[in-house]
Amino acid sequence: MAENGTGSVSFIGLGTMGREMVRNLLKAGHAVTVFDIVEEAVAALAAEGAIAATSLAEAVADADLAITMLPDTPQVEDVIYGEGGLLASPPRGRLVVDMSTIAPAAVRRMHADLKAKSIDFIDAPVSGGPIGAKNATLTIMAGGEAPAFARAEPFFRGMGPTITHVGAPGAGQAVKLCNQLTCGINIQAVCEAIALGRASGVDLEQMRSVLLGGSAASWMLDKLGPAMIAGDAGAGFRIDLMLKDLRLVQEQAQALSVPLPGTALVTSQYIEARAHGEGSNGNQALFRVYDRMTNRA
Ligand code: NAD
Repeated sequence: MAENGTGSVSFIGLGTMGREMVRNLLKAGHAVTVFDIVEEAVAALAAEGAIAATSLAEAVADADLAITMLPDTPQVEDVIYGEGGLLASPPRGRLVVDMSTIAPAAVRRMHADLKAKSIDFIDAPVSGGPIGAKNATLTIMAGGEAPAFARAEPFFRGMGPTITHVGAPGAGQAVKLCNQLTCGINIQAVCEAIALGRASGVDLEQMRSVLLGGSAASWMLDKLGPAMIAGDAGAGFRIDLMLKDLRLVQEQAQALSVPLPGTALVTSQYIEARAHGEGSNGNQALFRVYDRMTNRA
């Protein structure tokens, strides 16, 4: 870190979330080198002031830390263990931060393998979706050792105001999985309320604002309710990424012998949605399951 509080970041994974997080790191004054397997994603951010890299090793060489924002556990493993990966070619600052949502058990393994080579690792998944990524309002939950968290924290500040060190390696992902099961079951509750309200013939927009004023208020009703009512299944946090997260929740629950019947039920509805070709749609498309169950599709 430079004395003025800025430093150099290497950012790997420039999709829906990553590209917005890079923009905010640039706004916060950091030098950001970017890499993605999709060349256009790299070029787009280079046009906005990021430094383009053509390989992973080139991207991380001069960085204080490398941040990964990738779809799932196998992609993060690839970037760490693969040829030219971060285990063999770490950033100059020997700090790796994964902000994707992946399996806590894999995180603990990565932490141990990197530590054996004197490389620090922090798991720091986020909540807040593409809007939070764009507006730098992400909630960041971090697991790892305190000194490594202290080095990463100034960089997190550029991406969101709520940054919490929640415990040992993997704890960030454990908290994120609890976040995701709460989101999934909550989306289902909003779908059911709208399905019943619609069948009852009430004004759904008015119903939504009444519910938002009382104890049924929720982020999902507030942010996804309008799109559900309008039948807009378009962009947003994708159904297939949520299914990935629900799979991670269930793997963790099975490993720890915790029954999660609510999660099991909503997971089968997400599977139904994906089977109907909604995998790339936003999570509000879960409402289409209720359209189909009430013969309104
Ligand atoms: P995304 O699929 O839009 O982006 C992932 C990016 O990673 C893509 O640009 C892809 O080309 C790149 N990539 C894949 N493999 C790579 C590799 N080996 N090397 C370099 N680049 C590679 O996904 P996203 O929506 O940005 O989500 C990223 C992570 O954040 C996921 O784990 C997701 O669950 C989590 N997350 C997403 C949201 C959301 O609302 N989208 C919210 C919170 C957390």
